[in-house]
Amino acid sequence: MTVHLTRRQLVVSATGVLGVALLGTGCSAAGDPAGPTGPSPSGTPSGPASPAGSPVASPSGAAGPAAAAGLRWERADLSFVSAYLLVRGSEVAIVDLGTAGSDGAIRQVLASIGLGWDAVRHIVLTHRHGDHVGGLAAVAPQVRATVYAGAQDVAAIDSPVPIAGVRDGQEVFGLQVIASPGHTAGHICIFDPATGVLVAGDALRTTAGLAPSDPQFTEDAAGAAASVKRLATLPVRVILPGHGDPLTEGAAEALTRLAATL
Ligand SMILES: [Zn+2]
Repeated sequence: MTVHLTRRQLVVSATGVLGVALLGTGCSAAGDPAGPTGPSPSGTPSGPASPAGSPVASPSGAAGPAAAAGLRWERADLSFVSAYLLVRGSEVAIVDLGTAGSDGAIRQVLASIGLGWDAVRHIVLTHRHGDHVGGLAAVAPQVRATVYAGAQDVAAIDSPVPIAGVRDGQEVFGLQVIASPGHTAGHICIFDPATGVLVAGDALRTTAGLAPSDPQFTEDAAGAAASVKRLATLPVRVILPGHGDPLTEGAAEALTRLAATL
């Protein structure tokens, strides 16, 4: 039932629906180079980028070993920020929801893999910033999902539904919650130990090479640096950042190098 869209088709459809809705509560500069121009060549993880036999999760279209590993991911490219769909069979967890108005683009990505809102049972918000939680008001009424966020960010998120506060070490949908404070106090990342996929929120970005939380939007720089060092201890194989393209090649090495500079 998978629709074999190419990465570029997904990007075009997403940006075509949305346009750019940059809100004042965001945490990415307006000049963000990961804008409507689409992914860089390094951001095309489909096809041969995943070696045969690799357990690394990959977008739909790369069937086989990735699917057998039980988790695959899809990116909803929302122009300057991304949401990620983590898929096991016909059940989906969405990590982050973009700005208000992002629901249409996210629904398109769901449709591209033959699923709808009813498949979404978990929504994880990496942190409280508007460009990551803005889509919640429109998405929440359409799904039967539990919504999670880091316990220390929950109170600051405007939500039409209750949000479950989670802490380091908890598990959601078979995924590990990794507390990564600094960007915000309650920032969390989501890590899948089976595939090495790290959904990094704003703890990491790839808008100009792998980098830590943007200082312009970071509450606690020392905490953010410590969080990167912590993330570098994980067996990471793929980094899915809030801003910038997914890093699917050399992610562990890049993260180790980055951590050593902090
Ligand atoms: Zn942010």
